[in-house]
Amino acid sequence: MKLIEDKIREVGRVLPGDILKVDAFLNHQVDANLMSEIGKEFARLFKDEGITRIVTVESSGIAPAVMAGLYMNVPVVFARKHKSLTLTDNVYTSDVYSYTKQTSNKISIDKRFIKPNDKLLVIDDFLANGQAVQGLMNIAEQANVEIKGVGIVIEKSYQKGHDMIKKSGIHLESLARIASLSDGKVSFVEE
Ligand code: 5GP
Repeated sequence: MKLIEDKIREVGRVLPGDILKVDAFLNHQVDANLMSEIGKEFARLFKDEGITRIVTVESSGIAPAVMAGLYMNVPVVFARKHKSLTLTDNVYTSDVYSYTKQTSNKISIDKRFIKPNDKLLVIDDFLANGQAVQGLMNIAEQANVEIKGVGIVIEKSYQKGHDMIKKSGIHLESLARIASLSDGKVSFVEE
């Protein structure tokens, strides 16, 4: 999506550890107009999947997920992160290793917010090694519902997540695809 690539070229910063910092429009300050265009694009790309609910992980997935929910007219649920969790019977839970923070978190979703026969769309801000998506796949499995799509705002295509999701056969759409962050320079995948 050209709008996102242009925005990354304009304000994205490459940090050590293979991190693209996009706190000027996605991870801290949020560009609401751009989020709206992102939501519209996800709605277009997944219109044939019969999506009944969007799931994401707090906090950076929430802005694009809510916009997609608006244009798809479905509820949006964000998994909550906990350092440790007092387990109850009322939540689905999974472990997620955080790429940027290099710590493990538990994520959980209240059982009331996933229904039998739901067809889920997973939305996230970034796809790196796929741990966050895998955590949500794990929760979907516990809830016995299907994930029909994964929508990512920025994918680092050279890391493991892309292949992992493709191999699982799930419909993956990444709006900006990064081929490399070498030498502090952002290169996009040529489509
Ligand atoms: P994964 O679980 O796919 O390894 O990593 C995805 C999560 O890590 C995203 O939700 C995002 O919060 C964070 N992340 C991974 N790589 C980057 C990056 O290069 N920049 C930023 N800002 N976040 C990242």
